[in-house]
Amino acid sequence: MFEDAKQERNAILKAGLGTPSYMCAVGIAGYKTFEQFREAIKPIRGPQGRGWTDADVVLVGAGPIGLTAANVLGSLGVKALLVERNDFSSDLPRALVVDDEYMRLLDNLGILPSLRDDIAAPFGIYFYSSRGRPIIKVRPFLTANGFGTRTGVVQPVFEKILLSNIQRFECVDVQYLTTVPGLRAGADGVRLECARLAAKTEILRRDMSSRATARGASFVLSLVSRLRKRASISIS
Ligand SMILES: Cc1cc2nc3c(=O)[nH]c(=O)nc-3n(C[C@H](O)[C@H](O)[C@H](O)COP(=O)(O)OP(=O)(O)OC[C@H]3O[C@@H](n4cnc5c(N)ncnc54)[C@H](O)[C@@H]3O)c2cc1C
Repeated sequence: MFEDAKQERNAILKAGLGTPSYMCAVGIAGYKTFEQFREAIKPIRGPQGRGWTDADVVLVGAGPIGLTAANVLGSLGVKALLVERNDFSSDLPRALVVDDEYMRLLDNLGILPSLRDDIAAPFGIYFYSSRGRPIIKVRPFLTANGFGTRTGVVQPVFEKILLSNIQRFECVDVQYLTTVPGLRAGADGVRLECARLAAKTEILRRDMSSRATARGASFVLSLVSRLRKRASISIS
């Protein structure tokens, strides 16, 4: 058992698990003082966007998933709109762990360098009995893609970094303070009802209408194949 995260990281490195990509996954999240940590998780006001009312893809919710998807679509040049009902990024340290495939995705998207100070080294999970006897030890290890099985993140910090990275993409608009209470499908696409600052608006999501499912499906397939190419994944 390690006394602290630093000792654990040193032991992993000493065991020869260190590779360049592993090193870039080593951050100082575990070494922040309480004050530094409190500062790091402070939420920021989300952007209110450029007022787009239509896009090829509309993402509802700026949690880790919506923010990641917006970065992916932005990197593929897809016109996408991300809407979030809150006015600030979240301040609750909820999600703590991401896996190696997600790390690879972040690496591909060029986001990893901006995260390196705020992620912890891959860690294991050890369970002990009430008498202190080890029951299960799941040790950290590097997978074939060079990243650790479990990398530690701090959700509020992580979300802010994902959000700031979206700003690289002209093809993505991010609108906070926008709630989607419902949607209806029409001939021209899916219309999302939106409530924005007490005013009701509408967003049109093109390409995926219920009547144009074949077109919607081919749009999704073309996105997947572009993603695969980008990540050099060949799947037959
Ligand atoms: C109390 C708690 C503790 C947790 N602890 C852990 C943990 O220890 N480790 C761990 O790995 N994970 C933990 N999780 C899980 C982790 O937080 C989630 O897996 C992660 O946040 C999911 O990301 P997401 O983007 O799918 O959704 P969320 O983070 O939930 O984001 C969804 C976003 O959508 C917005 N939204 C929802 N509906 C609408 C709408 N109609 N219009 C506009 N916006 C909308 C919300 O405001 C929110 O910002 C915890 C979750 C909770 C609730």
